[in-house]
Amino acid sequence: MPDKSDHGFKHEFAVQPGISVDFRKFSTKYTGSHFKKKKAEKHLVEDIESLSGAQELLWASARYGVLIIFQAMDAAGKDGTIKHVMSGINPQGVDVYSFKAPTLNERMHHFLWRGIQKLPARGRITIFNRSYYEEVLVVRIHQEFLAAQNLPEKKFDNEFWRLRYQEINNFERTITRNGTLVIKFFLHVSQEEQKKRFLERLEDPDKMWKFSEDDFKERRHWKKYMQAYEQMLEGTSTEWAPWYVIPADHKWFMRMAVADIITSRIHEMNLSFPVVTKKQRNHLMQIRRKLEGQ
Ligand code: ATP
Ligand code: MG
Repeated sequence: MPDKSDHGFKHEFAVQPGISVDFRKFSTKYTGSHFKKKKAEKHLVEDIESLSGAQELLWASARYGVLIIFQAMDAAGKDGTIKHVMSGINPQGVDVYSFKAPTLNERMHHFLWRGIQKLPARGRITIFNRSYYEEVLVVRIHQEFLAAQNLPEKKFDNEFWRLRYQEINNFERTITRNGTLVIKFFLHVSQEEQKKRFLERLEDPDKMWKFSEDDFKERRHWKKYMQAYEQMLEGTSTEWAPWYVIPADHKWFMRMAVADIITSRIHEMNLSFPVVTKKQRNHLMQIRRKLEGQ
């Protein structure tokens, strides 16, 4: 199937393996040189249609699964992006999991354990709204979460986090080899834009339910989060599972870029519908004649 919708964002926003990441060089407001809002919205609709076709192929060929990971600061727009981008897809082929703070049972297992159980089967798309990456983000900033894991290690120095990155990379390599396409998005919103969105939630009675005091408190740690994100992107963007850093201050652009990358990554797998052999076709024709005769 030709891919008419590919705008090259998968090259533009991918974090090259091994490079050092400095957010001062990443604009959160970027909207591409040739995109205006109206045109972007049109492209989003086209991408959504194209994604629907891609998902059908994925399901019919039943050889590969797709894991899409979303990580972001609060109010960056994870929920809205998932809702929009997946809106054209057959709900029977997609699963979405939101990872909240782990339960006691989850904490008493390896940090990848709960994610492993939710991985996509062949033919399916699974979305992680937050993921095991929280284990090198929120857990790095609030080390009481680590204490609550009763790990054999006692020292949580840079080497500890480097080893976690390595474990994640090895894990993603294993599942990639087994036929899971891994696509990872960091929705990169600025602290000013987050403030604007929190204020909107506080001003509009219909949005107040979305406001969380914990999210507000978490803003204190913004710098630490950005450092943890930079290091995570550096440490876990790999050839087999690259990160895409998507400018997120303009939702219309972010959604289109995400849809474009997902569609293009599935298309480049060159999937095809299962071929029906001559023998199978003859058999099906016999059934058809019988059915018509009933
Ligand atoms: P929304 O606010 O839009 O509902 P959300 O993803 O922010 O979505 P919350 O319930 O507000 O959902 O937050 C989930 C919380 O769970 C986040 O603060 C996140 O950091 C935390 N969390 C997720 N995974 C882990 C983990 N492995 N260890 C500790 N905390 C985690
Ligand atoms: Mg939240």
